[in-house]
Amino acid sequence: MAEDLLSLWPRRHLDRTALTPLAGLRPGLEATVAATVLRARLDPRPGRSGPILHVEVGEGAARLAVTFFHAAYLSRVFQPGRRVLLSGPVEWRGRQLAMTHPEWEALEEGEVAPTGLVPVYPLSGGLKQRWMREFMRRHVPALAAQAADPLPLPLRERLDLPPRAWAVTRMHFPADSRERERARRRLVFDEFFRIALAVQLLHGPGSQPGQAQQPDGPLARRFREALPFPLTPGQEAAWSEIAADLAAPRPMARLLQGEVGSGKTVLAALALLAAVDAGRQAALMAPTEILAEQQAAVLEGWLRPLGLEVGLLVGNDRAADGVREAVEAGRLPLVVGTQALLSQGVQFRDLGVVVIDEQHRFGVRQRAVLTGKGFAPDLLVMTATPIPRTLALTVYGDLALSRIEGLPPGRRPVTTVALPQARRRDAYQKVAEEVRRGRQAYVVCPLVQQSPQLPGRGAVELARGMAAVPGWRVGLLHGQMPRAEREAVMDRFRQGAIDVLVSTTIVEVGVDVPNATVMVIESADRFGLAQLHQLRGRVGRGRDPGFCFLIHDSESEEAQARIGAMVRLRDGLALAEEDLHLRGPGEVLGIRQHGVRAFQLADPLTDLDILQQARAEARALLAEDPALAAPERALLRRWVDEALGEARPASVLH
Ligand code: ADP
Ligand code: MG
Repeated sequence: MAEDLLSLWPRRHLDRTALTPLAGLRPGLEATVAATVLRARLDPRPGRSGPILHVEVGEGAARLAVTFFHAAYLSRVFQPGRRVLLSGPVEWRGRQLAMTHPEWEALEEGEVAPTGLVPVYPLSGGLKQRWMREFMRRHVPALAAQAADPLPLPLRERLDLPPRAWAVTRMHFPADSRERERARRRLVFDEFFRIALAVQLLHGPGSQPGQAQQPDGPLARRFREALPFPLTPGQEAAWSEIAADLAAPRPMARLLQGEVGSGKTVLAALALLAAVDAGRQAALMAPTEILAEQQAAVLEGWLRPLGLEVGLLVGNDRAADGVREAVEAGRLPLVVGTQALLSQGVQFRDLGVVVIDEQHRFGVRQRAVLTGKGFAPDLLVMTATPIPRTLALTVYGDLALSRIEGLPPGRRPVTTVALPQARRRDAYQKVAEEVRRGRQAYVVCPLVQQSPQLPGRGAVELARGMAAVPGWRVGLLHGQMPRAEREAVMDRFRQGAIDVLVSTTIVEVGVDVPNATVMVIESADRFGLAQLHQLRGRVGRGRDPGFCFLIHDSESEEAQARIGAMVRLRDGLALAEEDLHLRGPGEVLGIRQHGVRAFQLADPLTDLDILQQARAEARALLAEDPALAAPERALLRRWVDEALGEARPASVLH
């Protein structure tokens, strides 16, 4: 509670180090002035605009008109004769200089104006800035002083970091901008250090002895021989890094990044086989049932001819019981599943390799739960979301990074077209054309069903409309359908028995049907860039060129920019950077979902030096005390545990 209050950081500070004399005001200037209230008139306009308070203040011969809306209560403050401080932009109104809704502060008799930097809080629900400021001024210093400093003193001294209590207080009430920055850097160090410790505690490499798998063993060799294609040079390069980790007797912790369609699944299969060739079990976790089902089907197709069985664990039905038993008894070497794999009832006899697909959907904690089911198994996480290096370092901590460069041969870039609503027929003409040629199409909607409350089209309605088109076999797919039905639809689409698949973003990640050549995205402005890129990646996977239509009618500039970026850029990394630019780092790539509290003061893009320092310090500290078990570090340990959340299972931290 106290911590929540203390970390309600000011959005910014008003600079009151310099007062502008009233006579020196100019329109366009953002200024703070001290002046005397000359008169105030409350205009009790009934109706929507509410009462308006007109105030005139003066200093010498200079005058300033000040207007407040919805602020009848202020007429008590702005009494003639009162000295006030006003901060805000200055404008011309008629022939007068004016401020509208400035920040204000009433001065007591004889009080000198408060100077320095004054905090502006992110307020909601009508809490008043001024009230908040006073409340914080009264409570922050004492509360901050009560909280113990989690950083060990020697560390603080070595890095010349001020005490946390000082930093917290000065972050709220700095004397000047230099002080504010010194305070901020200390607090940013704390944010990074805490997350670095958390991530490294969960699965730091080398923190415990691991197992050696057998990459390129007999099963893997037969698998490669049976594959209808050779690996691309990009796949080979990434695989040799992964294989080296797998062969070594320490736990692998590696992130495999590869553009949508670059062929990560083959490498996943090889990693899984490395465990089986070593006589152990392996698990692959995917974020959605559809994707898990598909991965299981793909792996079955490849591995059944080698005599290997692949289990699927997506729900809690009777079939799942059978799979669970077989996994526990060690009869089933390979299992693919959703988060169902994480549940307590799932136990492995000897889990050697864990692969997590489309990692950006899972949090740090979920990852740790799965690896906790084995004795330091090797971990490979895969993502198509290109992550700028700084963010990768922060979010993924000490995962080593491999990248698949390039795409399998013969891929053609997807032609991307943005269409206003009025021209959506163009998109469906292309769908008709491709269906006539025996190709298939996706149509993606933001909603399952149209709703008067939400903008955007619904899949159900659209599918119904399209089913009436002669010659189109239309399928509907969304997350509210029973699983068996969904599986049946997906199977029929994969086999070519459905021409047009109308769905929600459930097809977003990983779905792989090379014969599908058109992707129509309805209400495209309702999707984020990463999502749009994933969706577009569903086509252009076979020998035929792909087409992506973005239907939209948004007037929002940001939405336009997103759609424009999709048309202009093909490369996922460029898109991720554009996304970063449009939305800022906190929102991008689902950092919020990562199970660790998002950064409050840190900017992962510009605070890279602090980040690197914090990670190095975390690593050094854990090398000395791998579980932060020393009694003098109890506080630090608790602080880190809190960042991981209380729901953390006890087994996670060995
Ligand atoms: P992603 O990296 O998006 O998960 P997938 O693993 O689903 O990509 O692969 C996309 C498609 O490319 C699949 O149909 C897969 O069989 C095919 N593929 C993978 N590797 C190669 C390769 N070396 N040559 C040709 N096709 C490949
Ligand atoms: Mg994939």
